[in-house]
Parts: sequence; structure tokens; C-alpha cells
Amino acid sequence: MKIIIHGGFFSESDQSHETKTAKQNALKTIVQQAYAYLQSHSAFDTAAYAVSLLEDDPLFNAGIGSQIQGDGVIRMSSAIMDGSSQKMSGVINIQNVKNPVFVAKKLIGEEDRILGGEGAKKYASENGFEDFSTEIPQRRQEYEDKLKNGGRGTVGCVALDKEGKLAVATSTGGKGFEIPGRISDSATVAGNYANSFCAVSCTGVGEDIVSNATATKIVTRVTDGMSLQSAFDKTFQELKSIDGFAGAIAINREGNIFHQDSYPTMVFASFDGDSLQVFD
Ligand code: ASP
Repeated sequence: MKIIIHGGFFSESDQSHETKTAKQNALKTIVQQAYAYLQSHSAFDTAAYAVSLLEDDPLFNAGIGSQIQGDGVIRMSSAIMDGSSQKMSGVINIQNVKNPVFVAKKLIGEEDRILGGEGAKKYASENGFEDFSTEIPQRRQEYEDKLKNGGRGTVGCVALDKEGKLAVATSTGGKGFEIPGRISDSATVAGNYANSFCAVSCTGVGEDIVSNATATKIVTRVTDGMSLQSAFDKTFQELKSIDGFAGAIAINREGNIFHQDSYPTMVFASFDGDSLQVFD
């Protein structure tokens, strides 16, 4: 059993050292909590659970604490993918739910599995997800101060369970100040992808991640026989050639954990029962 989670990028320009330490401490606690959960749950359930804990922590830009879009409204996106069935489900630009990842997870049982905007919210309400404002005063203040720091804190989890099954979940409040209607990479196969060989969650500039098809490329390369290291190296080389900004976490079916970023301020933590690693 293996698990790795990320809390997106840390913004050096406008976040204090204390915020960075707080994020690392939160990741440490959550990765261990999620690993304990993985003992008796599938990788799929655990990926959703870990991401829900990250969504509940206002330090991260997902769920509670999500960034505010250009028109002053919060819209969140999340997706989950089960590596063994290769099914993905998700919500795009959903408003006023506490845990977008749980709405995404609920959709896995539907024929129509990725819903956007009002349809996503209507589905959530009809399925017992209560109205919940995820806005915190600090984000409103940042919005009013026009702090355009862009994408800082999307969250994600990749898990491998005791049956050798992989899953991934990703959740975001977006990059902040975006044009309403903009679609993040997080609920696309570029930002969140898994099969039975490998699972990957990304963070960074959504447009770059989509242009580079980042998660899909890494998973496909590993499926075709490349090592995790080579698959990441080649994919990040291609990202560099379009001047892209992203980071990604992964686990392959052999249980190897990997991470790479184009700019070294991504915060993430991994745990395999013995070794707890927290990086930035
Ligand atoms: N990838 C997210 C987006 O573009 C932002 C982030 O990862 O921080 O919406």
C-alpha cells in the first residue's frame, strides 16, 4: 500500500514561511490519516477521502478556502479516476458544495459521469449534498486587493491499495480571477488520469497542463514500458518546450512513488507505512 498527496504550489512571492510550514504539517497529518484509512478501504475510496481532508483545510485552494473567480464567485472542479476500471467522473465549476470530490465520486455510478456548472450543482442537491459556502474571509480580502497570484494550492491524491489497484483524485478552486466559464485541468484527463499501470495528479497552470496532456502522457508512457523517471523526464521536457508550469505526483503498479515539478515550490507528502516524506 502506498499513498502520495499534494497541496499544489506554494507561492513564494505572497505566502509567508509560516504558511509553507503549516501546509507541510497539514500534508503530514493528512497523508498518515489517509494511509490508516487505506488499510481497510480501496485506493478509490482513499483517494476521495484524502482529497476531502485537503478540501476541508482552508490552507489549500480546494473546497473550503477556494479562490474567487473574476466575477467574485467561487467555482470548484474535481475528478476521480479508478485505475482498474479506467472510469473517471467529475464536476466542473460547481458552486456551494463542501466537498466537490464526493460529488465527483458519487457520479462514478452514473452513465453521465462529468457534469458542469448548474447541472453539477443540481445533481449534488438531488443527491443529498447540502448547500455550503466554501468562501473564507482571507480569499475575499485577496480578491478585493486584486492579489493575482494564480494557481496556488490545487490538491490531489494517488493511492495504491492492498489489491494492487490504483486510483487518483484531484480538486481545485482554479487559478483565481479567471474568466467565468474557464475550465481547469483538474477535472480533465490532462490533470487527473489513471489506469492499472500508473496514476497521476497534476497542479500548475491548467492551460499548460492541458496543452501538454501531462497526466495522460505520463500514464501512457509507463503503460508502454517506460520507467516512471523516464516518463516524467520526457513529459516535463515537452512541458518546458512550451514554457509550461506544472507539477505532478504518481504511483505505478509496482508501488514506486514519483514526483516532479517545473518549478520547485510544489508541496507534497508520501507515506508507505514506514517512511514519511514531505517535500517542497
Ligand atoms: N491547475 C489549477 C488550474 O489551472 C490550478 C493549480 O493547480 O493551482 O485551475
